[in-house]
Amino acid sequence: MFQTTPIPAFNDNYIWALADASGQQIAVVDPGDAAPVQRYLKQHGLKLAAILITHHHADHTGGVAELRQAWEVPVFGPASSPFGGIDRPLSDGDTVALFGQTLQVRAVPGHTLDHISYFKAAPAPSCSAAIRFSSPAAAACSKAAPPRCSRRWITSAPCRTTRKSIAPTNIRYRIWLSPPR
Ligand SMILES: [Zn+2]
Repeated sequence: MFQTTPIPAFNDNYIWALADASGQQIAVVDPGDAAPVQRYLKQHGLKLAAILITHHHADHTGGVAELRQAWEVPVFGPASSPFGGIDRPLSDGDTVALFGQTLQVRAVPGHTLDHISYFKAAPAPSCSAAIRFSSPAAAACSKAAPPRCSRRWITSAPCRTTRKSIAPTNIRYRIWLSPPR
């Protein structure tokens, strides 16, 4: 996971900084203003490595040109964007490699048609072997083929693995199945 830091911007907003593991460089998300980003970089002795854009509005893209003049970095953003400063166009299902990690791109039109989100899945706990059904009713339900089974839940037993120090305990999984409508 990245270390994420909000950089205050405008009167009531943030530009998010994603730091790499070394803590020496960051990517910024939607820099609507270059000045607070430049101040943050200077203050912490960081380098800018990439810019991620979610949608074209000026309060999300207004600082891109100025940052690009100071930092020769890629600008990721929606392929369908009317904003002209994107040189790494992205569409739903694409991925972005950033600081050795992979971000998945999802189209989320709504606020604007070009809106995308960047998604980093959390690592799954390695407790699958310990999963048990939480009640006989749930176990019986699990054997019934949907749509008879409207809901069921699975709760893990306390996770006991050889690597106890990193093994989570009492992780609860809940799976909801609904009959087709
Ligand atoms: Zn907007």
